[in-house]
Amino acid sequence: MAVTIKSKSEIELMRESCRLLSLVHEEMRKAIKPGITTYQINQIGEDMISSLGCIPNFKNYNGFPAAICISVNDEVVHGIPSKKRVLKEGDIVSLDAGLIYKGYHSDAARTHAVGTVSPEAQKLMEVTKQSFFEGIKFAKAGCHLYDISAAIGDYAESFGYGVVKDLCGHGIGTELHQDPEIPNYRQKKKGIRLQPGMTLAIEPMINAGTYEVNWSDDGWTVTTKDGSLSAHYENTVLITDGEPEILTLERS
Ligand code: MG
Repeated sequence: MAVTIKSKSEIELMRESCRLLSLVHEEMRKAIKPGITTYQINQIGEDMISSLGCIPNFKNYNGFPAAICISVNDEVVHGIPSKKRVLKEGDIVSLDAGLIYKGYHSDAARTHAVGTVSPEAQKLMEVTKQSFFEGIKFAKAGCHLYDISAAIGDYAESFGYGVVKDLCGHGIGTELHQDPEIPNYRQKKKGIRLQPGMTLAIEPMINAGTYEVNWSDDGWTVTTKDGSLSAHYENTVLITDGEPEILTLERS
């Protein structure tokens, strides 16, 4: 499938889809505290998506049973919300959420601290977020796709962290996952040349230890192989003639 270039009117719809998603993330962030279950956080996110008149795009995606992917500590991505999973002081929790507004998808992930976390956990979250910003320095027309991959991976690895290789970012638009795939580590090739109107979900997943992951028996949850912490940070980004526009950026 070719990489799609969004028209002006499509970009407006993507902007609104992404703006609404950033509000959903904000609402979930406010709820993070010791004692809350991942089920409750999912409810908050799902209710807000519905109240905005949108559809949670993760729900039933290949059978995923919830609206929000909630991954705690050594869980990398695709954690299934549960009434039994109670967040406690010192945990880190990754919320990956997306919605559909008038047929257009948005996708973003944040990792939050639950109360006070260890300096190691705090640093992992900061480096993961910064690796996204290192990557999007190359999210410009004329750069190549894997310039982004290399910048993310090189930055995270310079801290001794493991960059997850089994999962990637992706194009996004009228479907949640479109071409191209966006790895988070250096590639041998250059990749496609970036063009204005491309919308990309760029999402480093960084482990404190090894890059290797396990795929759980529940069919979804991905965890670090060595049990180390993992963080995830993602935004939907628009390629323009100049600086990239981060469509799902935090509003506060
Ligand atoms: Mg994504």
